[in-house]
Amino acid sequence: MSTSGDFDSRPHVALLPSAGMGHVTPFLRLAASLVHSNCHVTLITAYPIVSLAESENISLFLSAFPQVTEKQFHLLPFDPASANSTDPFFLQWEAIRRSAHLLAPILSLTSPPLSALITDVSLISSVLPVTINLGLPNYILFTSSARMCYLLASFPAIVASKTSSGSVQFDNLEIPGLPPIPLSSVPPALLDLNNLFATLFLQNGQSFIKSNGILINTFEALEGEMLDAFNGRRELDGLPPLYAIGPLLPSEFESRGSNTYLRWLDEQPEGSVVYVSFGSRTALSREQTKELGNGLLSSGCKFLWVLKDTKVDKEDEDRLENVLGHEFTKKIENQGLVVKNWVDQEKILGHSAIGGFVTHGGWNSLVEAVWHGVRLLVWPQSGDQKINAEVMARSGLGTWPENWGWGAERLVNGDDIGEKIKNMMGNELLEEQAAHFGEQARKATGVGGSSERKLMDLIEEWKRKS
Ligand code: UDP
Ligand code: UDP
Repeated sequence: MSTSGDFDSRPHVALLPSAGMGHVTPFLRLAASLVHSNCHVTLITAYPIVSLAESENISLFLSAFPQVTEKQFHLLPFDPASANSTDPFFLQWEAIRRSAHLLAPILSLTSPPLSALITDVSLISSVLPVTINLGLPNYILFTSSARMCYLLASFPAIVASKTSSGSVQFDNLEIPGLPPIPLSSVPPALLDLNNLFATLFLQNGQSFIKSNGILINTFEALEGEMLDAFNGRRELDGLPPLYAIGPLLPSEFESRGSNTYLRWLDEQPEGSVVYVSFGSRTALSREQTKELGNGLLSSGCKFLWVLKDTKVDKEDEDRLENVLGHEFTKKIENQGLVVKNWVDQEKILGHSAIGGFVTHGGWNSLVEAVWHGVRLLVWPQSGDQKINAEVMARSGLGTWPENWGWGAERLVNGDDIGEKIKNMMGNELLEEQAAHFGEQARKATGVGGSSERKLMDLIEEWKRKS
């Protein structure tokens, strides 16, 4: 789009994340990596922002990268009652989607002119009409596993053939050369087509074919067979190319908050501590929290536990002692540390005292653990987490007790949790696999590695378009 004679041949890429740290974090990491690769970068931020963690991360990013232009995208008022969901993050996706037409002037008045927009998958079907109209290439950043991406690409056909009166019914999603995705692993919200998440998922899956490409936070050595299966379907279904560019690496700007837990880790023997966190937006029930606490105690392992009591951080006000009780708080003093605020997960996973990670299976958490060679016990709570857990279990990176079900499905008792933690922490095969995949992740992102080359190819493509 630039005139000939322009001496600045750098591509100009705009990024449009949706809501939730699981989406904002990989976008900011990609933005940082594009800046380091000599691209002009514009970050489009939708206001108001749902959680404190998101506002803080965006501010830290913008201070660390003054060369990035922020374009504020003020959303139109939106009545949550008009959408079929109570999830504040999904409602924010919908609010952004309903304001998508306001993006046209933001995108067209950007200087230098844009070479491409990278849009979160949750927004793509409402943003594509705007970019198609402007003649602007629009790429997706998919923030979950390639296995989940396959489900999204397949969902429109599943709905077309296997739906009765608003509910989706099928046994398995077959994937050539790989274990199928069983119905029990499909995000429960997808089974009811009236649910907002299912509506978005269907529309976004249908829009895949109109996007210019899909960037995904995974890498060949981890999901090579899955990437091949996806690419095998490409011509048949008219899907765009899939670019595995992960792991998207954490950047220094993300460091923040008190570091008392890091000092505590410094005092623990190497590989002795199990780190427990369910991501940025998952709160276990109080009953399950109590059982998890008992399980950690009965495992006999040292632990660092990040406890969340509400979905949105701003509302998480109860003191730790009120959640855990005085007696439990006293009992754990010699065995573990519990924190109830945002932690620097990257530094924790990279700490030599950490020997294992009990995680809900959010894709970012998993990829971060893989990067640091930390073995896993995956306990999926909702959404894409069982599908992600399957990827980890198949690669021998972690265990997944399938009979624990979804988070809200049943109360898992403390003894069972303690046993599984003990087994994971004593499993040397998992430790070896984790170390192996950590090395592979470094190879993928190093110079000439599969992910590095894919990103460089894209940047070259954008240069040609600028
Ligand atoms: N995270 C963090 N500190 C916390 C909680 C979460 O740094 O106290 C980060 C974590 O490292 C990951 C992201 O927040 O990058 C959570 O994304 P994920 O996909 O794992 O799960 P979600 O929160 O979307 O369920
Ligand atoms: N997702 C998708 N299509 C959509 C909306 C979401 O493929 O239209 C994916 C997205 O990658 C997300 C995953 O579905 O990571 C599961 O969403 P979840 O409910 O777990 O939200 P998250 O924790 O990622 O915010």
